[in-house]
Amino acid sequence: MSARRDEIAENVTAVEARILRAAQRAQRARSEITLIAVTKTYPVSDVAILKELGIENFGENRDEEGDEKSALVDGVWHFQGQIQSKKLPSISIWANYIHSMDNGAHLEKLERALATHGSEKKIGIFLQLSLDGAPGRGGVREDELEPLASSVLASPHLSLMGLMCVPPVESQPDIAFSEVARIHQKFLSTFSHATGLSIGMSGDFESAIAHGATHIRVGSSILGPRTYPQ
Ligand SMILES: *Cc1c(COP(=O)(O)O)cnc(C)c1O
Repeated sequence: MSARRDEIAENVTAVEARILRAAQRAQRARSEITLIAVTKTYPVSDVAILKELGIENFGENRDEEGDEKSALVDGVWHFQGQIQSKKLPSISIWANYIHSMDNGAHLEKLERALATHGSEKKIGIFLQLSLDGAPGRGGVREDELEPLASSVLASPHLSLMGLMCVPPVESQPDIAFSEVARIHQKFLSTFSHATGLSIGMSGDFESAIAHGATHIRVGSSILGPRTYPQ
């Protein structure tokens, strides 16, 4: 267990150094960038270690995992996986942010679930942008962002954070992220408070930081290779 702690601590230090260097190169403050540790597929014991090491933000792709781990480790919990409509009531209970929103019916269902809880809780919404419109990986095209954003603004229990994007597999990060940044700038001219930009994973977060990432979602660089896909 403590060998695992040492391994994770070493990885967190290395990732922090990479973030700091990328921020300096981009003349940005480290504090502008939120590191989300993507804990999907890893045991809750790893999440507890991260928490001890000072990590506050955790990301999950599946409702069951997020529900279970968030009950055991206090933190800010992010959902970034493909959304199944029937899971939304459960996700609405444990998630603080959803990065993978790409569907108006899902927004309505989420708002209804939160209203039904009768809680003060608000969930922060990142709209997922798809650069190539390819089915399967989630996200909407640029021209579909505006109606979704308006619908978030009309939902008392949701707040519009900004955009999220996972570039197409074969794309070059610098090219893809500069396109995302351009679309985000245009989006900001209508939705000026939606300054969040959730881009960058283990392999490309330096490039994402150079292009204005405010939230990076990093899994394997911190926790090692995942043993089952997701
Ligand atoms: C798994 C996943 C990540 C983290 O990926 P790594 O390459 O392990 O850093 C980030 N974002 C999304 C949407 C993911 O599914």
